[in-house]
Amino acid sequence: MKAEIISVGTEIIIGSTLNTNVQYITQRLSEIGIDVLFHTSVTDDPELLKDVVNIGLERVDLLIFTGGLGPTEDDMTKEAVSEILGLNLVLNSFLEANIKEYFNKMNRSMPSNNIKQAYLPEGSKFLINKIGTAPGIYIEKDNKVIILLPGPPKEMISMFNDQVVPLIKQNSIIKIKTINTIGIGESSLEMMLKDIIEEEKDFTIATYAQEGKVDIKIMAKGNDIEVIESNLDKIIKAIDNKASKYIYSYDNESIEEVVYKKLLEQNKKIAFCESCTGGLIASMFTRIPGASKVFDRCIVSYSNRSKIEELNIDEDILSKYGAVSEEIALEMAKGLLKKTGVDITLSTTGIAGPTGKTRENPIGLVYIGIATKDNSYVVKTTLSGDRDSIQNKAALIAFNELRKAL
Ligand code: AMP
Ligand code: MG
Repeated sequence: MKAEIISVGTEIIIGSTLNTNVQYITQRLSEIGIDVLFHTSVTDDPELLKDVVNIGLERVDLLIFTGGLGPTEDDMTKEAVSEILGLNLVLNSFLEANIKEYFNKMNRSMPSNNIKQAYLPEGSKFLINKIGTAPGIYIEKDNKVIILLPGPPKEMISMFNDQVVPLIKQNSIIKIKTINTIGIGESSLEMMLKDIIEEEKDFTIATYAQEGKVDIKIMAKGNDIEVIESNLDKIIKAIDNKASKYIYSYDNESIEEVVYKKLLEQNKKIAFCESCTGGLIASMFTRIPGASKVFDRCIVSYSNRSKIEELNIDEDILSKYGAVSEEIALEMAKGLLKKTGVDITLSTTGIAGPTGKTRENPIGLVYIGIATKDNSYVVKTTLSGDRDSIQNKAALIAFNELRKAL
């Protein structure tokens, strides 16, 4: 089945809203075996919108729209699509009651233009919106499927997964497995897996670089789930043989979740002291629900004074080696371990840039210290990019070091 995704909204065309819907839908469609051939974006202009509908109907079997289903004057996806398909809009009493109830629950009176959302093209099905007021719409006409979804990503995603996928799922089976790595660049990883990638004719294996990490995606297509799964297992084992050092998840878990689970399993507590990452590591970690079970504290220790006061670092060592040094990273982690009595601590100190470089310390130099009762050490790394990406990469590497330590 060939598909086109049409994003409706002036905010997308002028670049004020990033079109995340199109990325999400495309990825999900490829997982269920539907080929997306076109991405189209169009402003909130009824005539242009109608042109886009006509063009889409000419060239694909499945048209998915997002946006323009709201209650306001500029939302007219439904009207344009209905007009081109020659379908009247009829009031649906269930939707009408639903929208009224939505406003009742929120203790607000319904603005009169919201009733517009209770109208459906004749012969279409509605898709329930569990989060907002705009229902989605599913239309089948002349062997074409046209689906209208709301623009707000949360509403779109929930509707897409719960209601759209079951309606359009193909018969051929597609399995996508993602293996997540940290600590190796994309081209080195690709070289490492070259033989496997070239040998494997039936499945597609590709690497995708993201900031500070690289994913390996294996896409398997076929009709027999058992054959697919046993072949997938073989490929995963082969990849594991070559790259296990860098693999932190086979499941798209985040690296911080992997660390969290290890701490939980081992019944250990952790604390951080962050200089160059400024609390980012703690912020990432505390996004995990239940982090309090393993997380004790984070000290954002930026100044020399705070390193002395909070982490009991010797003033002489600090002036001898400087704040960005292996010695201080180690002293920070050890000082925190002593202060808190937790099982494992992690420190960061480095130069996130763009200022602050010296002859010995280039921008991107980061030391990560790890301390436990039995073992304390420092990992040195040099990262590229602007301040933001150096901090992000340092945080990922810090979690990866924790994963290895645990
Ligand atoms: P609408 O359904 O057109 O009223 O869209 C409502 C809001 O959803 C917009 O203001 C955007 O914030 C968001 N939105 C619409 N389309 C997209 C899209 N393609 N990707 C991400 N967000 C979107
Ligand atoms: Mg809009």
